[in-house]
Amino acid sequence: MKKKYILDKVYDPTPVEEKWSKFWIDKGLFKPQVPSSKKNFSMVLPPPNVTGSLHMGHALCFTLPDIIVRWRRMQGYNTLWLPGTDHASIAVHSVIEQSLAEKGLTREKVGREEFLKIAWDWKSKYGGVITNQLKKLGTSLDWTRERFTLDDGFSTAVRHVFIDLYHEGLIYRDYYLVNRCPHCGTVLSDIEIEHKERKAKLYFIKYPLLDSEESIIVATTRPETMLGDTAVAVHPSDERYAKMQGKKALLPLVNREIPVITDERVEMEFGTGAVKVTPAHDPVDFELGKHHNLEQVIVIDGSGRMTEAAGKEFMGLDRYECREKVVSRLKEMGLLEKIEDYQHAVGHCYRCQTIIEPHLSWQWFVRVEPLAKEAIRVVEEGKIEFIPPNWAKTYFEWMYNIHDWCISRQLWWGHRIPAWHCRKCEHVTVVEKAPKKCEKCQSSDLIQDEDVLDTWFSSALWPFATMGWPEETEDLKTFYPTDLMSTGFDIIFFWVARMIMMGLKFAGDIPFRYVYINGLVRDFKRRKMSKSEGNIIDPLEMIDKYGTDALRFTMAALAIPGMDISLSEERMAGYRAFANKIWNATRFVLMSLKSDEFHQKEEELTLADRWIKSRLVKVIEELNDALENYKFYEAADKIYHFIWHEFCDWYIELVKPSLKEGNKTSEAVLVDTLDQILRLLHPFMPFITEEIWQHLPSSGESLAVASFPRAEQDLKDEEAESEMRFLQDAIIGVRTIRAENRIPPRQKINLWVIVNKEEEKQIIRKNQTCIQTLANIRQVEIWDYFPQEKKLLKGVAGSWEIAIPLEEGVFDLEREKQRLEKELAKIMLDIEKIEKRLHKDNFINRAPKEVIQETEARLQELQNKKIKLERSLEHILSLI
Ligand SMILES: [Zn+2]
Ligand SMILES: [Zn+2]
Repeated sequence: MKKKYILDKVYDPTPVEEKWSKFWIDKGLFKPQVPSSKKNFSMVLPPPNVTGSLHMGHALCFTLPDIIVRWRRMQGYNTLWLPGTDHASIAVHSVIEQSLAEKGLTREKVGREEFLKIAWDWKSKYGGVITNQLKKLGTSLDWTRERFTLDDGFSTAVRHVFIDLYHEGLIYRDYYLVNRCPHCGTVLSDIEIEHKERKAKLYFIKYPLLDSEESIIVATTRPETMLGDTAVAVHPSDERYAKMQGKKALLPLVNREIPVITDERVEMEFGTGAVKVTPAHDPVDFELGKHHNLEQVIVIDGSGRMTEAAGKEFMGLDRYECREKVVSRLKEMGLLEKIEDYQHAVGHCYRCQTIIEPHLSWQWFVRVEPLAKEAIRVVEEGKIEFIPPNWAKTYFEWMYNIHDWCISRQLWWGHRIPAWHCRKCEHVTVVEKAPKKCEKCQSSDLIQDEDVLDTWFSSALWPFATMGWPEETEDLKTFYPTDLMSTGFDIIFFWVARMIMMGLKFAGDIPFRYVYINGLVRDFKRRKMSKSEGNIIDPLEMIDKYGTDALRFTMAALAIPGMDISLSEERMAGYRAFANKIWNATRFVLMSLKSDEFHQKEEELTLADRWIKSRLVKVIEELNDALENYKFYEAADKIYHFIWHEFCDWYIELVKPSLKEGNKTSEAVLVDTLDQILRLLHPFMPFITEEIWQHLPSSGESLAVASFPRAEQDLKDEEAESEMRFLQDAIIGVRTIRAENRIPPRQKINLWVIVNKEEEKQIIRKNQTCIQTLANIRQVEIWDYFPQEKKLLKGVAGSWEIAIPLEEGVFDLEREKQRLEKELAKIMLDIEKIEKRLHKDNFINRAPKEVIQETEARLQELQNKKIKLERSLEHILSLI
């Protein structure tokens, strides 16, 4: 045998995976041709955070598109899958600031320049972690085109977009109440806030009215903000407060005179019906304040501490310390009416889970509505499709109610806003590079805006900025719009919607044709994975244990659109066994080869050969169909079943006699089928298939660029398939009788069959050898009816009857009778014991519920077994 044809005895994934992962990249097999006359297929990788490390969500989100792109590549498409990472402003800040804190430093102490240097150093040192993990996962990305959202070209694109939108009036600056995370030290957009129900207190505070003995009582969950109150509001038709309207109250602790105003927006049912108004610290009050021209007093700063305006007593306190102090001071003064328990939704930072502080400040915004209009249209017109389609509904709901997007962040790691403020006339000059003079007053006293852009602002440009936009590159011409985007439902608004808006606006077309929305990956007990629960399953650990191919196959097999994925170690172990099965089958095939020359002669094709060829064609069709519709689970199921059950369990067994007879055609069909199977499986399990394929006589440079099998219609053979079904039924029938009657598979027996149709008799006669080999039969006899006097073990097989004659030595009836009787006696004893136990009062009353249930289940199981044994015994007795 040629050395090439020898496979190791046992499959070890680790060295094989390392070898091919490197080989594919070194050979540049994932690099497309530009330009190319072939059909193109392209995707951009959803860029993982540069701080990231591979988790199960990634493993799913990257495996599925890899299956598609590998399949398309093998189908002959000119494919591009473009990789890269995201600079992740907040995440990087938290890493660097923590390391600074350990040295007793802050970013303010080291300064912007030094901070950025540290961040870039960190990036070059650790930024490659996720990149290497992606390679480990077998993703067929073109690493020569790798991008980073902060690289030079990308930064140019970001500035370009900002400036264009600004000059079109779609980006503006405003003094507005925004969400700020005191911990992350930056403002956030509305969708970066997670609203969570929290138990809280509702404080009822008396505000004395001026020139009156009376007070007006307001209810609030945030008493510390009262220091910034500039009014009390009641509903205009609230009778309770009719005589207080227009009067003034004296704000306790601050001694500010504030008016009692009326506004339709006040909810009469909340608290006392009178509410305090803090325009600088509450979104509703902010609107109210604008409408009534109220003063905006900022009492809490961006880091959650009380400002000077809060008064000397409170200045510098943390907002929650201040709350306690305010409450105790009010108590002292007899102004705290009561405290009630209260449950309400509170906004939290999606990064660090700190409670958000509404924060009045100058920020940059995108006027989103005009952009959203177009983005809605393309989905409505079906130019972009969501899979599963119900996600489009979620998309529309958000898009139709979209708010302006706050894009400035008080961070340093990111795209600094290309705007220069004039210190003389306050005009803002928005240009590509630092201007020498203010465009309005010509002053040279300019300072660049301190803020950077929201990371999502840059990632919105990902599909086209990665291809070289704003230059008109060959890549853009060839690969934009892309074909597929695979991502999580949690970033439909953050990312998908914004890519659609920006793609349409700047690249002049949709960014992708299909959006595949992945389900959530859950743990082994169907629970959501979370750090706090400690139930995170690490994909790298699973890879070490079962191999990447098994992990990938699990992902595909569980990926039902619209459903969460419940991981199961059993599944992964099962697909690891699947890999072994293919490995062992290949070893058999290779060892059976007698030469290097393979020719198929039509007249030498056996039924089994014709059958497997026909089945293969149908599987190719089914696989293509499933993948075209992104039904990964269906594709995985078809290929798994075909390889394990049809190829390994049936065909390899069926072909053995022909190989023995030296049928060269069967040998050729066997090798060819294995070759095609590896091609079909390659997108799912790239590593083991490449390894095996390289050992086949038909191998080439790499399976990754070999052609995907075509469904050749003339190989479909309905006759062969129906004949084979007929034989398989017979063989399964015999195996069942054997198992039921404990006749060892190795023991040769005779088989009688009743078939009525002449063509069926023909099939049996023609395929005697096949039945004999697979069911271990000495002789097959065809009967019109079974003779009464014969002792037979009978059964059915598909549409006809079969029987095993009880001849000398085949089956010892007496011994079987004794065995059954003995087993029956034992089971009855067990049943008695359990029944007694269940009838004892102290067991029923004292044992835990689960134990009782378990015992009852066990009893049921034994009773079922008893019935089966009794039936078998009855049958045996009838034969004696
Ligand atoms: Zn935060
Ligand atoms: Zn100026």
